[in-house]
Amino acid sequence: TMEFTDRVTRVEPSATLAISALATELEQDGADVVDLSVGEPDFPTPQNIVDAGQEAMDAGHTGYTTSAGILELRKAISEKLAADGLDHGPEEIIVTPGAKQALYEIIQALIQDGDEVALLDPAWVSYEAMVKMAGGDLTRVDLSETDFQLEPALDDLEAAVSDETELLIVNSPSNPTGAVYTDAALEGVRDLAVEHDITVISDEIYKEITYGVEPTSLGTLEGMAERTVTVNGFSKAYSMTGWRLGYFAGPEELIDQAGKLHSHSVSSAVNFVQHAGVEALENTDDAVADMVEAFGERRELVIDLLDDHGVDVAVPDGAFYMMLPVADDDQAWCEGAIEDAHVATVPGSAFGTPGYARISYAASEERLEEGIERLAEEGYL
Ligand code: PLP
Repeated sequence: TMEFTDRVTRVEPSATLAISALATELEQDGADVVDLSVGEPDFPTPQNIVDAGQEAMDAGHTGYTTSAGILELRKAISEKLAADGLDHGPEEIIVTPGAKQALYEIIQALIQDGDEVALLDPAWVSYEAMVKMAGGDLTRVDLSETDFQLEPALDDLEAAVSDETELLIVNSPSNPTGAVYTDAALEGVRDLAVEHDITVISDEIYKEITYGVEPTSLGTLEGMAERTVTVNGFSKAYSMTGWRLGYFAGPEELIDQAGKLHSHSVSSAVNFVQHAGVEALENTDDAVADMVEAFGERRELVIDLLDDHGVDVAVPDGAFYMMLPVADDDQAWCEGAIEDAHVATVPGSAFGTPGYARISYAASEERLEEGIERLAEEGYL
């Protein structure tokens, strides 16, 4: 028999797996499952990006690239970051196969056995797994009592962090809540990070998907440039999940250390995909605006439909998720909802916050209506 490492055995399989296994089983039996559990846009990748990828392939961009990514893309990223108020030259950027890989490399570079990492709950599922794989210990701050907003919970964050805290992960707009943190909240984070010398990861993968608010990039705050690693990617804003393209930008010393992990593991992101990424950053504003508009309309629709059934949710300002308050045993609620109503959602406990289910509204209006109707009919609302 094989013997496995602590680093892998201490990580739980994804809690969403049980739900997708049930969904697959039901679909194989012929059921029509409304899938509100997915974390990806339901739009095709904009055609000009697809064309750019194909042209790059035809032009022979099929070999290895510089490990950190082609200069043209890192320059385009540098300009995008500058537009957000962040100052990172191409030498402070690493292009990765997805933002997930970026986060993995950063955490591997910064965290080792016994290091403390603070998370704001509910938090995206992979943060916990990545921290555990690195040997870190988690401190969790619950935002479920404050409509998932950080500003009114800053006292709790203050109580949770100390000089022992190595890293704090902030994700605004948030998966799974859609919350966008206020400037006052981010200033509170800054004050604590400076006081306790904490490095902060700002996961901004949903930054382009917001409804009437402009999220501030944490790294633009005074005192934060030298302690912030900004993570972003192409999956969500450009509907490019399967292309696997993301990046991180931060102080050069981190880029040097994480760059070793990067070059000795993935080598680089895919060559022609990086060329498509340049096109995405330079020529896709209209397509992004159209997708965001559609998400915004669906958000209104879901909120209205839930309201019709007397269900109040914390209104998300960004991303394409919301947290539905459900039974205390959210795992059982989600399993029941899929078995009885054939509607798939993700239990809040997967994100560290029991009592909720995450709904993704990256689905057509028709499917959203159908899903909520069925939940109501089967007594789940
Ligand atoms: N960060 C958050 C908060 C996410 O929700 C996701 C995807 O679900 C990622 C990072 C990773 O995205 P990708 O690896 O596709 O760029």
